[in-house]
Amino acid sequence: MFNTHSFASDYSEARDKFLAAARIAGAVTSRFDNPTKGPKGEMLSTDVARLGPDDAAKIVVTLSSTHGVEGYCGSGFQVDWLATIGAAGLPKDTAILFVHAINPYGFAWTRRVTEEGNDLNRNYVDHGKPYPVNEGYLEIADWLVPADFSEGGIKAADAKLAEYRKKAGDVAYFRAVSGGQYSHPDGMFFGGGGPSWSNRTLHAIASRFLGGRSDVAVIDFHTGLGPYGYGEPITHYDIDSGGSRRVRAFWGESVTESKRGQTASQARDGLGHHGLNRLLREPETRLTMCTLEFGTFDRESGQKAFRADHWLHKYGDPLGKEAESVRAAMRRQFYPDTDDWKEAVLFRGHQLVRQAIAGVQRGAI
Ligand SMILES: [Zn+2]
Repeated sequence: MFNTHSFASDYSEARDKFLAAARIAGAVTSRFDNPTKGPKGEMLSTDVARLGPDDAAKIVVTLSSTHGVEGYCGSGFQVDWLATIGAAGLPKDTAILFVHAINPYGFAWTRRVTEEGNDLNRNYVDHGKPYPVNEGYLEIADWLVPADFSEGGIKAADAKLAEYRKKAGDVAYFRAVSGGQYSHPDGMFFGGGGPSWSNRTLHAIASRFLGGRSDVAVIDFHTGLGPYGYGEPITHYDIDSGGSRRVRAFWGESVTESKRGQTASQARDGLGHHGLNRLLREPETRLTMCTLEFGTFDRESGQKAFRADHWLHKYGDPLGKEAESVRAAMRRQFYPDTDDWKEAVLFRGHQLVRQAIAGVQRGAI
């Protein structure tokens, strides 16, 4: 039986619980202040807790809140690990690093995006190169986030989207919607016009805490894709690479690899996977990373919530009357507030972290 009290009801409570659990566990914490504020004027930061030897050659990392509001999930797990496992769960020469709320703006505002409107998992591209053009998105941008958000306005926009989907086909349609775009800063799945604050902060954390280690395992907690409560470890390594062999050795048969077409999550550039794999490379460091994706509700209700969120921040008043129901739908979609879902998150989270700690002991595979 798991204790679901480690989960919070807003960003500030999550941060307080995390820092309290870190202190009791004897972890060393660092704070990275975000320049924006939350909806109640609250201070926002990414907080880091490290436990284990300073110079450990092996380190396991968990990230929460890459997609803002999805942070309730990873935060709850991090607090529970610190409170129930702690230093006793670490073998010799092994440390653990918890990155709490890498996108604190999105967490506090119940959004998936960062303060720059970026989908962080489309933002880890090489910003020195021209951005890919998403032709499909250009065609449907105004229907995805219509100015008129009345029942009639949405109906008209949906008819246009259905027309486009029929013409382009399902695969091209979903690629147009969610493949990422670099042309509409207040649109959906915007990859950014430069490295966002969260991207730069993750790079600063990686340089400070992960440089020079021989073995690093990273688990990035997400929600919103797949069956309710199931945690799917998704990876993006090239087939037959060292990374691909290691993810299987670490996490076994339940790992899905996008390059083998085993997951609904598309293989595309700009993921945290690419950012960290560019930074931490063999032979100095063996990085083994997965996205741990917990299922919630169906894709249609997610799309609906996400669309309303973008409308609110583009055309509405994020602090006005209509904001409450928009945020409630986002929150339900990415953080089902039920004990059975939270228990499933804790069980699977502990399982994957335990496997990652055992995995980094193996060295070269
Ligand atoms: Zn996500």
